[in-house]
Amino acid sequence: MPFRLSPRTIVTRLIVALIISGIIGYVLGTTFLALSIASIGLLVWNYNHLFKLMNWLWQGKSIAPPQARGIWGRIYDGLYRRIRKQRQKQKQLNERLRKFRDGAEALPDAALVLSTELTILWGNKKASQLIGIRWPGDVGQRIDNLIRFPEFAKYLDDGNYESPCVITSPVNSELQLELRMMAYGSDQILLLARDISKIQRLEEMRRDFVANVSHELKTPLTVVRGYVEMVQASETALAPHWQKAFTTIETQVSRMDRLVEQLLVLSRVENNIEDDNLQQVDLSRLILTIVEDVQWLNQDKNHVISDDIAADIKVNGNEHELKSACMNLLSNAIAYTPANGVIEVSLTSDGNKVRFSVKDNGPGIKPEHVNRLTERFFRVDKSRSRNTGGSGLGLAIVKHVLNHHNAELAIESEWHEGSEFIIYFTIRNSSKA
Ligand code: ADP
Repeated sequence: MPFRLSPRTIVTRLIVALIISGIIGYVLGTTFLALSIASIGLLVWNYNHLFKLMNWLWQGKSIAPPQARGIWGRIYDGLYRRIRKQRQKQKQLNERLRKFRDGAEALPDAALVLSTELTILWGNKKASQLIGIRWPGDVGQRIDNLIRFPEFAKYLDDGNYESPCVITSPVNSELQLELRMMAYGSDQILLLARDISKIQRLEEMRRDFVANVSHELKTPLTVVRGYVEMVQASETALAPHWQKAFTTIETQVSRMDRLVEQLLVLSRVENNIEDDNLQQVDLSRLILTIVEDVQWLNQDKNHVISDDIAADIKVNGNEHELKSACMNLLSNAIAYTPANGVIEVSLTSDGNKVRFSVKDNGPGIKPEHVNRLTERFFRVDKSRSRNTGGSGLGLAIVKHVLNHHNAELAIESEWHEGSEFIIYFTIRNSSKA
């Protein structure tokens, strides 16, 4: 049996029924009465099925519709088919939803699904353990009403979800959580919270360890250096091989001394994450001083160092740290550019952006090395770097200084052409740089 009846078939059937009743009526001599009875019969039949359909739709318990023949049979069959399809789809959707939830529950992180208005739609069990947000109890609440930390409010305000936001857990002050938000589907946001307390403790231990070891190394180094200098300054002439030995010891001790000094600076900068020492720093004056100070470093290399420094540029920050970062860029340019090079130092400001740049025409850096330059102990050419007294810590110090000065380091370099190291500061209207 075909599923559908075409309008032509329906109309033909109706006309045939009327013609038959008309003929019967004609034979009996009551054509009009016969046609009227046939029409009323048709009407009653249709109404009967309409009532059946209404009863089934509103009160029927079974999904199977009433039985009927003809056009009504087809209508019921069509409806039944649709309901079955719908049910199947619903089942598949439920299955997918169940799988998603099982997956999200298996995550070691807290997961929350938010609407674009930041209201909570769903959360896993970990979300309740780590952030104290319960599902379905907290559905419809705004996330910033439940996580009330200034750093999280600022993170939401900035709307830049590329980097994570670290907060203390609202339910356990000993837990540190790293929150990440990302677009999920077309109109939802996924928030993942990871417990990073252990990683932070390890990181703290590492920092303390490096700081302590560096500190402890300082005294023995000073003693060794003192004795070496004493022997070298003594009136009794040393045999040439001893002289050579002592010169080497002095060079190596100086290298180690510089390394220890840089490790201590790095530890200080890494630990100094509080804003206590921030003050207005006259960057223009600071850079001018640095350019003057590095002249003695430039004596052997004889580079042309030009400067273009806009006056009165001020940023909020720690002067000592800023000096160390800018100095590092300039001393690197001097150290890595072959003698008689050209180094340009510039400081400009545009709106709330301040740009400090050190450009040289030195050897340049290969693209594959550029992203690794700020790693601790990374040196492109270890032997050359060793000759320049480099430890591979300078740019790591720069990166950490910039981290808590609301500033970024950009490195532009062409192999064999030269490099430009740029610091971008963003001036905030508030007291922070
Ligand atoms: P280092 O103490 O070895 O100079 P840095 O962290 O300051 O350590 O620099 C890391 C590496 O980056 C250096 O070893 C050097 O290879 C490269 N580098 C830094 N500045 C420059 C520059 N201006 N030109 C070329 N290479 C540079």
